[in-house]
Amino acid sequence: MTDAKRGRVFSGARPTGRQHLGNYLGAIQNYVALQDEYECVYCIVDLHALTTVDTTENLRTNTYEMALDWLAAGIRPVESIIFIQSHVPQVAELHLILSMVTPLGKLTDLPTFKEKARMQPHNINYGLVGYPVLMAADILLYKASAVPVGIDQEPHIEFARELVRSFNYRFNTDVLVEPQMKATEFPKVLGIDGQQKMSKSLNNHIELAATPQETTERVMQMVTDPARIRRSDPGNPDVCNVYSMHKIFSPQEDVEMVNVECRRAGIGCVDCKRLLARHLNAHLEPFRARRAEIARDPNTVWYVLEDGKQRAQAIASQTIAEVTEAVGLL
Ligand code: SF4
Repeated sequence: MTDAKRGRVFSGARPTGRQHLGNYLGAIQNYVALQDEYECVYCIVDLHALTTVDTTENLRTNTYEMALDWLAAGIRPVESIIFIQSHVPQVAELHLILSMVTPLGKLTDLPTFKEKARMQPHNINYGLVGYPVLMAADILLYKASAVPVGIDQEPHIEFARELVRSFNYRFNTDVLVEPQMKATEFPKVLGIDGQQKMSKSLNNHIELAATPQETTERVMQMVTDPARIRRSDPGNPDVCNVYSMHKIFSPQEDVEMVNVECRRAGIGCVDCKRLLARHLNAHLEPFRARRAEIARDPNTVWYVLEDGKQRAQAIASQTIAEVTEAVGLL
C-alpha cells in the first residue's frame, strides 16, 4: 500500500452486465472518486450471485460488460485491483473459518436474509444464509479499512465488525481488521417509473452504454408529477424524478429554469424531458467514447481481470497464512 493513501477500500458488486444510471450514481462514481484517497480493491462477486441466480448462462458476458463499464467510467486498473471473486479461492477458506465463530441465529435474524427468503421461498439455500459471512470474508481477506456501501448494507458491515471481534478474541490475535462503513452519496436512484429504485430486473433503468437515441427514448418514458395531467396544469418538480435527474445532470441555470417554469406551466413535460435527455447524453458522451475505445480489443478487459487476480491473490495468501497460524491449523 502506498504511504500517500489513507487505507484500503474493498467493494464488491454482482455481475449484472451493462450498468445503469443507478449503479453509476450509487456506486461507480464513488468507486472512481475513492481512488484518489484509497488503495481500492473492486471485486465482481460471482460467488454471491450464485445465491440468487437460476442460471449462470450469462455470467461471462455479464462479467465482461460490467468490468468494461467500470473501466470506461474511470476505474484505473494500474492503481486499483479489479478482479473476479471466484478467482481467489482463499475467500472460500476464510468464509469456512469465519463460519465457526458465527452464531447461526444472528444470520437468520438479519433483515436482508428475511427479505431474500421472502422473495425466493422456493430457494432458501445455505449460501443465502451464509451470504454475510462470505461478504465479511471478502472484506477481511483484503484487510480493508473502509467499505463503500449503501445504507441497506449497514447491518452487514456491523456484522463483519462483530465477526472480527469474535475471531480475534477467540484466537487471541489481531490479524483481522474491523472495517468502517463509507456511506455513498446517492444511496437510492429512482427508475423511470419514478416509484422504485432503478433496477434492471424492474426494467426501469437507463443503461450507461445505451446509444444517445435509446437514452432519449428512455428519458421520454419517465413518469413525471402524476398530478400534472394537462400541459396547462402547473407542476411540482419536488415530486418529479425528471427534476431530480436535472439536478444531477443539468447546468444550474436549467435546473432553476425548470424549477420556476414547471410551477407556472411555463414548460411542458415533453420539452423538460428533451432538455434532460440532451444534458444526460452530453454527460455520458465521454464515457461512451472510452467504452468504445476499450472494447475495440476485448482482451483488454480480460487482461485487467487476470492482472487483478494475481494482485488480489498475493494479498489473500498473506492474510490466509496469518489466519491459519492464528487459528492453530497445521
Ligand atoms: S415540467 Fe419537468 S419537472 Fe415539471 S412535472 Fe414535467 S417533467 Fe417534471
